[in-house]
Amino acid sequence: MNADAPPERLLLGSGPSPVPREVLDALALPTIGHMDPAFAEIMEEVATGLRATFATANRATLPISGTGSAGMDALVSNFVDPGDRVVCGVHGLFGERMADQLARAGADVVRVEAEWGRAIEVERLIEAAREGLDAMVVVHGETSTGVAQPLDGLAEACRERDALLMIDCVTSLSGHPLALDEAGVDAAFSGTQKCLNVPPGLAPFTAGERALAKLAARSAPGRSWYFDLSLVLSYWTGDGGRAYHHTAPINLVYALREALCIVHDEGLEARWARHERAHEALRAALGGLGFERIAPEGEALWPLLAVTVPEGVDEAALRRSLLLDHGIEVSGGLGPMAGRAWRIGVMGAGARRQPQRRLVSALAGELGADPTDALAALDEAWRA
Ligand SMILES: *Cc1c(COP(=O)(O)O)cnc(C)c1O
Repeated sequence: MNADAPPERLLLGSGPSPVPREVLDALALPTIGHMDPAFAEIMEEVATGLRATFATANRATLPISGTGSAGMDALVSNFVDPGDRVVCGVHGLFGERMADQLARAGADVVRVEAEWGRAIEVERLIEAAREGLDAMVVVHGETSTGVAQPLDGLAEACRERDALLMIDCVTSLSGHPLALDEAGVDAAFSGTQKCLNVPPGLAPFTAGERALAKLAARSAPGRSWYFDLSLVLSYWTGDGGRAYHHTAPINLVYALREALCIVHDEGLEARWARHERAHEALRAALGGLGFERIAPEGEALWPLLAVTVPEGVDEAALRRSLLLDHGIEVSGGLGPMAGRAWRIGVMGAGARRQPQRRLVSALAGELGADPTDALAALDEAWRA
């Protein structure tokens, strides 16, 4: 046994993303009890920060204990009943997972698909809703392909039929324009290790009154005890005194609070704009090295740049050299894009000029290319 420190890495893959020093320091604050009134104050700050980040007034806003996938479990186990007709957008791996999860919950899943690398036309989702539905679920930021899913008109289509609109915003939260209440989203989940730059382990979650009314109207408790929001909320929102449900991951909650302060200090809209600029800068630099963005204009997800790898390049070997010789992590393609694409994170602290310069220099070096033009393109886009 030994307890050596792990190597230093620059995390520019699909997540986890770089964790700032302040956030790591927050993790190391002294652990206190989950029923301590001092912790209750911290929970209150976290809930307030999450509401601002989701751009929602939902009282039921909290971090679910577990990674982003736990948020998906919480969403489905609380708001989807067996036999519900659920329209599910599928345009990548995370849409596939959602469809799988819905089917496991006994839903009648209506898949509306688009090819990997494209957004789903909202008209097709609205069309599917016309035949009746209890809920619609879409992945707002498809991390497997680097595509952002428009939500226009979906809330209206759902409300007309008294159905819930729910989204996965694991990768898009705080890195891509998204205002939940304005978009009419009834429930959403995210993760901490993408644009929030917190280690994995919490799933920011929010639910509005329509979703909570559906939960309250249930005739039998949902199949998950751990994720049962009616129980979890009695601890998190503390109406009438907080009741113990499960021990909160105390130190991760400290870290999330620190990260939410960083988001607050920058400002949500400024943060979205920075992610766009960082995305376009890296896209320009990598384009000069032969890596082309997959998402068409107007469909790109700022926090995740998915690119094709130039013909003749052994992408797996190149990723290995970046990681082992330069300490830089980027992610490979998934599903039909495996072996042909890379997924590069543009997330929070990673959406900055310096880490991008490091990646572009190392990549040019490995390809035996002169980095001058690519770096100039990067700098130019950052100055614009
Ligand atoms: C990362 C991710 C998830 C899963 O989150 P985990 O933290 O790995 O459980 C779900 N959806 C999307 C869009 C993601 O990017």
